Amino acid sequence: MSWFKRENADLTSAPAPEGEDAERRVRTDGLWVKCLGCRQAIWKADLEANLNVCPKCGYHFGMDAQERVASLLEPGYELVDQGLRSTDPLNFTDIKPYKLRLEQGRRQTGLDDAILNAVGDLGPIPVVLSVMEYAFAGGSMGAVVGETIARAVDRSLAGRKPLIIVTASGGARMQEGIVSLLQMAKISSGLAQMDDKRIPYICVLTHPTYGGVTASFAMLGDLNVAEPGALIGFAGPRVIEQTIRQKLPEGFQRSEFLLEKGFLDAVMSRKELKQYLIRALEFMQVPA
Ligand SMILES: [Zn+2]
Repeated sequence: MSWFKRENADLTSAPAPEGEDAERRVRTDGLWVKCLGCRQAIWKADLEANLNVCPKCGYHFGMDAQERVASLLEPGYELVDQGLRSTDPLNFTDIKPYKLRLEQGRRQTGLDDAILNAVGDLGPIPVVLSVMEYAFAGGSMGAVVGETIARAVDRSLAGRKPLIIVTASGGARMQEGIVSLLQMAKISSGLAQMDDKRIPYICVLTHPTYGGVTASFAMLGDLNVAEPGALIGFAGPRVIEQTIRQKLPEGFQRSEFLLEKGFLDAVMSRKELKQYLIRALEFMQVPA
């Protein structure tokens, strides 16, 4: 089993192998991953070469913000609006201090918060791209995420370039309380200005997108397109089930279900996404 990425904490406490065994362990550990869709073993390099989509069943694994930017924009793009950090306005502590959570997020993702802005070309089209990072505090939206997206909106307005936001978020960042909720209005009003100027905004919803993000900019695109199998909603299924005291239908809150119910415009596999976005933007065109 050492060929699979360890998921069970108990396994990691096993005595360290020695000698030749240890060498082999080091070289092979984590080279294979088990697909969460078809349960088959996939060679990690194959998975990465396939944009983190299972080559056997098409299951979409998560993708970090840097990979996402690189998967959409042509080489030569520029990462912008970096260096903003939360001031922890409420001096908040739950089971651990918010400051510590922020530090961990920075260490794990190499980002200052759960968002990454880039400017570059999507195929032949100059765009502004803003990508959420789920691995940073569950992609939650606080002041820094809100401000960074607002700056992406400003760049779109100033350069008359289409905006694409890729969402992955548990919702508002509770450690910033009301400050996080304000971001919904701040971003939405910026998007309304884009609408006035007839500059296209496309939202790409990825797994998972919830709460205040769904309730604001994730549903405000001129086009709202989701990846296959993504869970998208406001409250989670368990909360809804407990509230309405009814069993929810099969596939509830999955992107395919939401497409059928009219909440989304399209469900597009990651491999087709870039071409789809190019076609859509060519169709929309920014007026001169
Ligand atoms: Zn699979």
